[in-house]
Amino acid sequence: MIQLIRGFKDILPGEIELWQRIEAEAKSLFEAFGFREIRIPIMEKTELFKRSIGEETDIVEKEMYTFADRGGEMVTLRPEATASIVRAYIQHKLYAADPVQRLYMIGPMFRRERPQKGRYRQFTQIDAEIFGVASPLADAQLIFLLVTLFARLKVADVEAHVNSLGCPACRPDFRAALQAMLTSVGGSLCADCSRRRERNPLRVLDCKVPSCRAALAGAPSILDHLCRECRRDFDELQAALSGLGVGYRVNPRLVRGLDYYTRATFEIQTGALGAQSAVAGGGRYDKLVKELGGPDLPATGFAIGFDRLAEIAGVGAAGLQPRPDLFLAALGPESRSLAFDWACRLGRDGVRVEMELGEKSLKSQMKTADRLGAAHVLMVGETELNDRAALLRNMQTKEQIRVPFEGLAERIKTLLDAR
Ligand code: ATP
Ligand code: MG
Repeated sequence: MIQLIRGFKDILPGEIELWQRIEAEAKSLFEAFGFREIRIPIMEKTELFKRSIGEETDIVEKEMYTFADRGGEMVTLRPEATASIVRAYIQHKLYAADPVQRLYMIGPMFRRERPQKGRYRQFTQIDAEIFGVASPLADAQLIFLLVTLFARLKVADVEAHVNSLGCPACRPDFRAALQAMLTSVGGSLCADCSRRRERNPLRVLDCKVPSCRAALAGAPSILDHLCRECRRDFDELQAALSGLGVGYRVNPRLVRGLDYYTRATFEIQTGALGAQSAVAGGGRYDKLVKELGGPDLPATGFAIGFDRLAEIAGVGAAGLQPRPDLFLAALGPESRSLAFDWACRLGRDGVRVEMELGEKSLKSQMKTADRLGAAHVLMVGETELNDRAALLRNMQTKEQIRVPFEGLAERIKTLLDAR
């Protein structure tokens, strides 16, 4: 038997109801905040991700599904959404009508990481971006949106971590200070970090290897190196969060695995996930639109790990599964053909209706109705054929009424609608 690819997964009925619920909550919240949906391709030119995410990142160095297509063009399954959304914003000149655009998307991403709980090779992200707003209020709004969504989904134990990564004016200064410090502890860094030290030292702050963490105990804080504008924006972000009653923790070690971030960065972490503690991450990327060939416009955004969110949502899938309004139990070919006709008409009119299409005993049909949790059962057999009236049973009260065949589908619909 051919099994699915390692790190990929199916989301089956039973679990999908929770996914649909999360998706519905996210969409309704996005719409309330003026976001509009964008759908982007699953695959892009490899160059797009290399230029945006950065060559020296884990994603580009070792996680992307990249291959030459049959024409020899290098293409990549998207590992994240921001790069594509920025490309679309530029390519379709979405800024021309109004530079301020709020966009969201929900869909699969691909990264060839080591599969484990909370870490898959195909996973889903809920992604939101705000273009054209320099004010830190946009960042505060995104964090507020995240916290609100998680509260609606009854996610316990979440904390917003915030940091500022500075800007091209002040980051080089911090980078130099960090590099000097890293050189002094050189020997105790892992192989990856020894390499990153030269070309992407900020990434070392994010290393999970214990010896690197220990070596970083005395590392300088980026927050001591911020320029006046970055400091002002970071203070304003914190004031806005406090004003909204959002609890947050300033975490000067928070960096992101993508090179395009500037100023505000944030992560929503939870204790409920074990090692994979980040359920969402994001921040500002004020230079990326220009770097990818667009106008010099600021932007900020986030991505939620949908799979991780589904694991910790307190609104479990139980109870979300749809139950039929009506189960049609028919005995004999003539009854079955009548019931089939009613079932199709009722389904067309939006009634959740089920019936056994093959020949089954009444007992077995009633069992099925019970298993599905049908609210009502409509029975039709020989007696009912003679009477030209079917028997409608309310499965909760056990109350039964006779419903004449004449105009039955309409009558049933009226009866069910009245409840
Ligand atoms: P991590 O530190 O867990 O590797 P990341 O910094 O690589 O996360 P981002 O690129 O910021 O993650 O993506 C945003 C969110 O997407 C993460 O917070 C996480 O919830 C989720 N995510 C990232 N990679 C995976 C994966 N391989 N499987 C499942 N979810 C993932
Ligand atoms: Mg990662």
